[in-house]
Amino acid sequence: SIAHHTNAEPLNTITPAKVEWQMDDTGNMVPVSGEFGDVYFSHADGLAETRHVFLEHNQLPDRLAGLVPQQCFTIAELGFGTGLNLLATWQLWRQLRNTYPQLADARLHFITTEKFPIPLADLTHILALWGQRAPELVALIEPLLAAYPPLIAGCHRLDFSYDNLTVDIWLGDAAQSLSKLAIERSQQSAPQPHIDAWFLDGFAPSCNSTLWADSIFTQMQRLSRPHTTAATYSCAGIVKRGLKEHGFDIKKVKGFGRKREMLTAIMPAPVSDETSGHTDNRAADHQAIDNGHSIVIGAGISGLMMAWTLANRGVQVTLLDKTAPLAGASGNPRALLAPKMTPIHHVDEHLHTIGYLYSSRLYRDLNQKATQLNTAPVLEPTGALDLLVKANIGTEQIEDYPDEMATTLPHEQVQNISGIKEQDLSENLYLPQSGLVNPQALKTIILTHPLIRFQQLEVSEINETEQQVCIEGSDQNQETFSILADHVVICAAFESHQLDKRIFNCRKIRGQLSWFRPSLEQLMNLPRIPLKYSGYCAPFNAQAGDDNLNTVTAGKPYLLLGASFIRNDIGTDIRDEEHQISRDKLVAAIPEMESIMPADTSLWQGRAGIRTQTPDYHPIVGQLTNSQRIWTMSAMGAKGYALAPICAEALAGTMLGSFAPLSNAMLARLSPNRTRLQTPLT
Ligand code: SAM
Repeated sequence: SIAHHTNAEPLNTITPAKVEWQMDDTGNMVPVSGEFGDVYFSHADGLAETRHVFLEHNQLPDRLAGLVPQQCFTIAELGFGTGLNLLATWQLWRQLRNTYPQLADARLHFITTEKFPIPLADLTHILALWGQRAPELVALIEPLLAAYPPLIAGCHRLDFSYDNLTVDIWLGDAAQSLSKLAIERSQQSAPQPHIDAWFLDGFAPSCNSTLWADSIFTQMQRLSRPHTTAATYSCAGIVKRGLKEHGFDIKKVKGFGRKREMLTAIMPAPVSDETSGHTDNRAADHQAIDNGHSIVIGAGISGLMMAWTLANRGVQVTLLDKTAPLAGASGNPRALLAPKMTPIHHVDEHLHTIGYLYSSRLYRDLNQKATQLNTAPVLEPTGALDLLVKANIGTEQIEDYPDEMATTLPHEQVQNISGIKEQDLSENLYLPQSGLVNPQALKTIILTHPLIRFQQLEVSEINETEQQVCIEGSDQNQETFSILADHVVICAAFESHQLDKRIFNCRKIRGQLSWFRPSLEQLMNLPRIPLKYSGYCAPFNAQAGDDNLNTVTAGKPYLLLGASFIRNDIGTDIRDEEHQISRDKLVAAIPEMESIMPADTSLWQGRAGIRTQTPDYHPIVGQLTNSQRIWTMSAMGAKGYALAPICAEALAGTMLGSFAPLSNAMLARLSPNRTRLQTPLT
């Protein structure tokens, strides 16, 4: 019953759907929601009904076909359910893109909400049936299932970039999720995100009032603009009234199959557009959109991801660095990508979790590109073991996490996986989807993007006018350069402040990573998977392209140890005492390593970089005060590989007027102008 779900649940934890099966009139088994007692889709022909109600009656075939290059069309759905509406929309989009060449550079953004997500096993079963009935969906079902997120509250962004399709699945109550979508602009001239078409698919109002509540219609009004449409199979009074009272013109039309009627709605154009603050979408139709040229300063993980994200949206990017890509703190041989656990009721606003989930999906996708380009994989899926979680938040706090994100393994199994023999690991936290990122492989892929051009240049000045930004600087031969762009994104970590004083002058922390080649005997007894404790260690095999291992060692095993943490030190020399510190941390966490780890660290290799940290530990992401064209994404601390991809998505969205995968509260927490960054650093 509905009451059962609205009363007792703590906020932000997700209750998976209870899928039940019923036989329909034709003798087929169809899925039914155990919570609401209603069917997920029409017994007769769910796919045809989806196409009739949501696609045809939002005029999607025409509207999508009419997009111009670089234009983004945004759909919002209430109730993701089995994903059938998404699949039908995606299939239409693919078909149109095959027909109309100008759609090659247009984008589709599908935002959907779900409070009771279907577990992957049930979804796989349901969609397999669709695959049999509708062969045209088969090619889409597999990638959707592969990208389906763990059932954790918050926004999960799935990129199907080969189809210019972005899907945001907001798990949680729809009204709450919609209220988190940010449309605020810092400048009147900046483009404002809006929904173009709504799919109202929340079960019959008699079974589920929550998706037809005033709070939903209020959000629809907030997020719509003139010519936004909505469609639903329901003609219930509550639906008609809700839409009308919130600015929509409604119309009853013929329903699907034997159904007499359904409802469509459109947000009318205001009498005078000057007073509305909105611009007419139709007026912009058929005018080419030019996403222009952006300069990204700094080619660490932030700059690389920013360049990648913008280029994927059709922006020409010049990526600048005074040295070379990955010359700074991001250029270690490997980076450990593992979740930083938080009590689950905070998870939907926990940047590290959101970032980790997005990054691991992205890097896995990029592994396919790596294969095509014949480079090493971007993410090596190793799993990892967190030895500190008990001290940090307690294992009971993480019991509610889905097992694919974090779980506790039986003692013997964890011993086998980790290679740790004597330690009591009964309180272990195993992170199955963790892995090691290979920064050089990631860099290689990003720099092959046809819209990204790297240039070695030391920037000395940034001058903004109303029309453009001009960058001045000099190259390695001291030749001076000036480059014009529409936007500049400063991704220069602790040096960002020197480039623009409006960017907070962050704390600088030296971190040295150490690595060595174990002997065969050591190798047998060292950890077999990455471990997190007060530091971390990770065994890995050198790959072709591992430039900073100094020797030609492809295929050879290494142990990586991280990292020292020295405040207010910007030296990047390699120090033996810091190798020792990292060795000592490992031995303190796992005493049996004392006899296995070499005591003499003088032959170890290492790399030191400077981490940049704000007083509240959040990165700095957004537009600078009183600027139209200068943005920043910096201060990732030691978390760039987890945070930069999602922050780049959020910033690109804000720059280009599409919805960010982060809540408006989170965007405010990341803002370069947040209050915590107004006080001088002591
Ligand atoms: N569009 C889906 C499809 O293509 O399979 C079918 C959606 S089904 C008719 C309605 C969905 O709304 C269910 O999955 C249900 O769990 C979800 N739902 C119900 N109440 C909700 C709420 N308050 N917030 C978000 N989702 C909700």
